[in-house]
Amino acid sequence: MIQDIGAEKLNNSYIPDAVPSPGDTLFCFRGGEVLACPDMQEPFPKVADVSFSGDTVYLFSIGERRYFLCRDENPEAPEKFAYTDVKQLRRAEGAVKLHVFALFTAFHLCKWYRKSRFCGACGAETVPDSRERAMRCPGCGNITYPRIDPAVIVGVTNGDKLLLTRYARGRGVNFDALVAGFTEIGETLEQTVEREVMEEVGLRVKNIRYYKSQPWGFSGGILAGFFCDVEGGDTVTLDESELSSAIWTRREDIVGQPDDMSLTNEMMKMFRDGKV
Ligand SMILES: [Zn+2]
Repeated sequence: MIQDIGAEKLNNSYIPDAVPSPGDTLFCFRGGEVLACPDMQEPFPKVADVSFSGDTVYLFSIGERRYFLCRDENPEAPEKFAYTDVKQLRRAEGAVKLHVFALFTAFHLCKWYRKSRFCGACGAETVPDSRERAMRCPGCGNITYPRIDPAVIVGVTNGDKLLLTRYARGRGVNFDALVAGFTEIGETLEQTVEREVMEEVGLRVKNIRYYKSQPWGFSGGILAGFFCDVEGGDTVTLDESELSSAIWTRREDIVGQPDDMSLTNEMMKMFRDGKV
């Protein structure tokens, strides 16, 4: 999965007064694009590579690598670098998991900083808190913490078969997935599982069991994976606004996704290999 980056560890302690060194990585986003070069071993520019105002915010470190976010709106691309679609980089030939994980995590933080410039309570301009990662309103004292949206991924099993879905057209995804959805206020993760399965495919489930979780910064979420068994009838009633298909698939016929970044892919393969 995207977070399985070997021995190196993410350290996301907030260091408000961190000053970037020339060799630190600088993430420069423009909408859904990031400044990157075709070298997947070292795809992102260093601080010294980019001509910008110097306005940065410290993001996190992974092992010895430190990452900063460029606060300039649109710094000019240095030689060999170009603004590249964030999603595309995940599937780029030779993509390295550590870099994709750093990119998605930085993108999540970048989007939160963009949306937290003004206080949601009184509309005043916010300032970074001096002690923790939060934006503070000097007007009314409101504090905005980084937002993470919880969601579930659901492997619905039916004996030797797993329910594989395809998203409705227009979502830009054309490979197998599992039932998935965001948690609503007031419900447990298990209740999200029950509700999403009923909404998307019209099935009742039982024996809901937690598998693993995954940060998914691209959509700003934390994903919790569950397996469960179908209860009663197994005839699918599709929500066609969400899905184009949902098919009971035998273990040996499960293909998986084109890369091994997602929790969904790992869950499909665990079932295929008879490990769950
Ligand atoms: Zn305020």
